[in-house]
Amino acid sequence: MSDAHASSDARRTGERPSAIVIGAGIVGATVAWALGKSGVATTLVDADGPGAGCSYGNAGAISESSVAPVAMPGVSRNVLGMLLDPEGPLRIRPARLPRALPWLLAFMASARPARVERIAARLHALHHGAVDAHLALAREIGAPELGVRHGHLHLYPDEAALAKDADSWALRQRYGVEVRKLNRAGIVSLEPAVSPRYQVGMFLPDHAMVVNPQRYVDRIVAAFRERGGRWSRDRILKIAPAGGSWVCASATDEWHADHVVVAAGIASKRLLAPLGIHPPLESQRGYHAMFEGARAPTSRIVVLADRKAFTTTMETGFRIAGTVEIGGTSAPPDPRRSAVLERIARETFPALAGAKVTTWMGHRPCMPDSLPWVGPARGRAGLHFAFGHGHLGVTDAPGTARRIVAAIAGSG
Ligand SMILES: Cc1cc2nc3c(=O)[nH]c(=O)nc-3n(C[C@H](O)[C@H](O)[C@H](O)COP(=O)(O)OP(=O)(O)OC[C@H]3O[C@@H](n4cnc5c(N)ncnc54)[C@H](O)[C@@H]3O)c2cc1C
Repeated sequence: MSDAHASSDARRTGERPSAIVIGAGIVGATVAWALGKSGVATTLVDADGPGAGCSYGNAGAISESSVAPVAMPGVSRNVLGMLLDPEGPLRIRPARLPRALPWLLAFMASARPARVERIAARLHALHHGAVDAHLALAREIGAPELGVRHGHLHLYPDEAALAKDADSWALRQRYGVEVRKLNRAGIVSLEPAVSPRYQVGMFLPDHAMVVNPQRYVDRIVAAFRERGGRWSRDRILKIAPAGGSWVCASATDEWHADHVVVAAGIASKRLLAPLGIHPPLESQRGYHAMFEGARAPTSRIVVLADRKAFTTTMETGFRIAGTVEIGGTSAPPDPRRSAVLERIARETFPALAGAKVTTWMGHRPCMPDSLPWVGPARGRAGLHFAFGHGHLGVTDAPGTARRIVAAIAGSG
């Protein structure tokens, strides 16, 4: 039994509350850091190591204004195309279709205009303050260079392509986001290396990015430990109530605490099933291609909006990330999908010619309505959810931590 077993005794004696956070992706790491800072005796457990899951290979965009859910009105029309085109930006593997069907139906149902409005309001509340919170966190953990506020530039070939995203831009603007529309000259003045394919830009000057998502998570966990947080590399197999507190067990160890925070990304579904809790999580597999050591062609997040791809100049090279593939968690990566990303990057930024590429695939933990489960579980005192952040887990890690801290320690 680990050290944390003493914490339920501590609660009985009125000492500080204790918590176990399962999962050290960007969400769990940020939650653990914030809990530790607020005086909660916190243990962070991960099966593989900080940032080993989806948080390893994302684009690092802090997209505070992305209030539009993934399912927007009209999404149903695209579903047939998703099935047919193995190289398109959205893809459903036919073998996954029967298992994913209930999720897909819920996904399409959430695209009704009135629901989109309600979802956007809730996403706005969670995203609010994300950029400032990340930049403050990067400073607090002693790595201010990891957070950079240079804005995001979304690119379109022409006005017709921009018009396809009109609803999501209108939603953003309704929430007061500053957006500057650019012509080709405006695009080139910000990012001279962009190919002439792109003639229309939408620039979000207040947005920011994390220039090394994996090092960021590592550093958050290191800072958490430096402040006295406990860290353990182990796979939790069971979560169970234990006389007013909770026990989490691996094959060889167990931890007791007043609170358990489930922040295990896509694996949260499997972990909660024995408790009779069944979150509607589905993996939207995403890919990246990384041009290691390439000369940086950009200085900010550049979104190739027509290709649904994000590009970022990272500390370690140039990354293009994106695509959605509904394909379950056990099928191997499809190399065609990262190859498409690589081709798009080379077409858009000719300066990448000759650079060597590595590829990656990760499981975005996605809810059909794009709303993560964040906060206390109803009717299970001490159990907390922090998963389902889909395309926006980096963005929403601080907002999630704020809510979990409020629930456990009574302050944000
Ligand atoms: C291609 C791509 C690009 C993206 N770009 C962006 C972006 O620019 N901006 C943005 O905001 N978001 C982006 N995202 C989304 C973002 O990466 C995810 O939402 C986020 O990483 C989810 O974080 P998480 O901590 O919930 O899950 P994860 O990072 O997957 O972490 C879960 C952790 O739980 C651990 N775990 C699982 N089971 C157990 C167990 N039984 N016991 C112990 N530990 C366990 C795993 O080892 C893992 O470390 C992108 C995603 C992809 C795929």
